[in-house]
Amino acid sequence: MICLRGDKRLRLKSSVVSSCSETVDKLRVASFTLGLRAVCAPELGISERILLLNSWYDGTNSAGKITVLCDPIIESSCGEETLQESCPCITENRTVTSRSYEIEVVFYDENMIARRRRFRGLKSRDIQHALDHFMGVLLSDRWSRTDQRAKPPLYGYRYEDNSR
Ligand SMILES: [Zn+2]
Repeated sequence: MICLRGDKRLRLKSSVVSSCSETVDKLRVASFTLGLRAVCAPELGISERILLLNSWYDGTNSAGKITVLCDPIIESSCGEETLQESCPCITENRTVTSRSYEIEVVFYDENMIARRRRFRGLKSRDIQHALDHFMGVLLSDRWSRTDQRAKPPLYGYRYEDNSR
C-alpha cells in the first residue's frame, strides 16, 4: 500500500485534481489500517495534491475524525519548531527536522469547497510534510539540510515568515 523510498513514483510532481473521492477512500483505509496520523496521496504512489489528517488518532487504530486537504497552499507561516519526524515511506531512523510551527492554509475540502484554516504543531508539520511529497521531495532530503542548520528550502508554496 505504501510506496517505499527508492520507488520512482515518490519523485513525481503531483497534480491538482477536480475530484478526490476515490483517492480519499484509499487514504482513509491507509490511515486507519496502518495507524497513520496523516497520509498523503504520493505516499500511496498516487501523484495528486491530496492529504488526509486523522485528528482523533490515538494509537489504537480506532476510527477518528478526518480532515481532507486538496491542493493546500500555505498563505503565511510563523514560528519554527524542530522535532523528530518520520515518514511511512522511509524505514531508517528518524531525525529532527525544522518546520514552521503555525501556518495559514487555503485548500479544498472533501466536497471541493474552498476553505481557509490555521494549523499548529503536528498538523502544521504534517501538511508541510505532504507539500514536500507533492514536489517529489522526501524527508530524507531535508535531513542533511537541517543538519547544516540551513533554512529549510521552500518547495514552490507561498511563504511569509511573520516571526521576525
Ligand atoms: Zn511521507
